[in-house]
Amino acid sequence: MPVLVMKFGGTSVANLDRIRRAAKRVGVEVAKGYDVIVIVSAMSGRTNELVGWVNETSPLFDAREYDAVVSSGENVTAGLMALTLQEMDVPARSWQGWQVPVRTSSAHSAARIEEIPTDNINAKFGEGMRVAVVAGFQGVSAEGRITTLGRGGSDTTAVAFAAAFEAERCDIYTDVDGVYTTDPRIASKARKMDKIAYEEMLELASLGAKVLQTRSVELAMRYKVKLRVVSSFEEQSDDAGTLVCSEEEIMESNIVSGIAYSRDEAKMTLISVADRPGIAAAIFGPLSEAGVNVDMIIQNISEEGRTDVTFSCPIQQVERAEKALQQAAERGEINYHDLVADTDVAKVSAVGIGMRSQSGVAARMFKTLSDEGVNIKVIATSEIKISVLIDRKYMELAVQALHDAFKLDKVA
Ligand code: ASP
Ligand code: MG
Repeated sequence: MPVLVMKFGGTSVANLDRIRRAAKRVGVEVAKGYDVIVIVSAMSGRTNELVGWVNETSPLFDAREYDAVVSSGENVTAGLMALTLQEMDVPARSWQGWQVPVRTSSAHSAARIEEIPTDNINAKFGEGMRVAVVAGFQGVSAEGRITTLGRGGSDTTAVAFAAAFEAERCDIYTDVDGVYTTDPRIASKARKMDKIAYEEMLELASLGAKVLQTRSVELAMRYKVKLRVVSSFEEQSDDAGTLVCSEEEIMESNIVSGIAYSRDEAKMTLISVADRPGIAAAIFGPLSEAGVNVDMIIQNISEEGRTDVTFSCPIQQVERAEKALQQAAERGEINYHDLVADTDVAKVSAVGIGMRSQSGVAARMFKTLSDEGVNIKVIATSEIKISVLIDRKYMELAVQALHDAFKLDKVA
């Protein structure tokens, strides 16, 4: 029988009523003839509570015990979901990660799934079980300890199961009804997309992060899992929500498909650095070792052998970046006159696979911002994305203006 994976996030299993509502939806798919693998999150708020308890008990906690505690929220919802389905006469059984087993690396609290054997669950399907309810977010290491996959990890569990069981689709039930062209709280004309390509979804992470864990999208792209984001609070049809899929499956799309933003950026400038071979490595090596996520980089023209180098990084990493560069200077690896941090910037990006074949997107973006009087401080481009750093106070204005300029409220 064809397999369907259905994942229910924390708000969709927040209480017994919602678990019943989710179970009914599972029942509908079982009635259609699917064997269903249900992946559940913990009840909303539960994982935060468990993390809080761990921190209070032991601030420098042993990561193995952190995983033992925080993985428990999913065990509760898996058992309750299986019981609810049984009450509806649907043959269901719960599975904790180690029972499948979901084999992972030993990187506690950030483990990676290495293998999901299908024989145990398939044997039970063969014996008449129609629904396997699997606790998301958890697995087991080679040492036999329980691991967790990082916050939001049950999305990744769901996609990994869909890949392993060659599921027809992986439906992610959540509290929003799909992926939008931009944040509807910023631009009221934001439109829900019917389809979006994997690559675009990855780039739109700032919009999608709340919806899907980034690693789940990477995994879906690698294994070509059809991923559908749907609301668990609305009546469903088969084409509801947003389908995240290969670009070949998207017939019509705008050149730009979404406007993403990130509020918490900082712009750092090293003033007057010696312009010599190896200088970029001398600057960015220590930054990377210090765990600074550098995003955009520009090096200005040099005068008399000296130049300015600007880069952007998350605002929370400014101090770490400053320290790493000061230490590099003390070791004599670099020298600069000054290091200036501008922490009042935001990043706004236009994303779309259509940019690969169409020119003029950058020009239109810059013109739109200039018409609004928004000054661009740094520009970076990739094949399917153009990002600009601007003053944070103009971020909302820029998002709205770009959403209008690229006519994202309509499908081309
Ligand atoms: N319960 C976990 C968390 O809150 C995993 C998940 O829901 O995806 O991060
Ligand atoms: Mg989530």
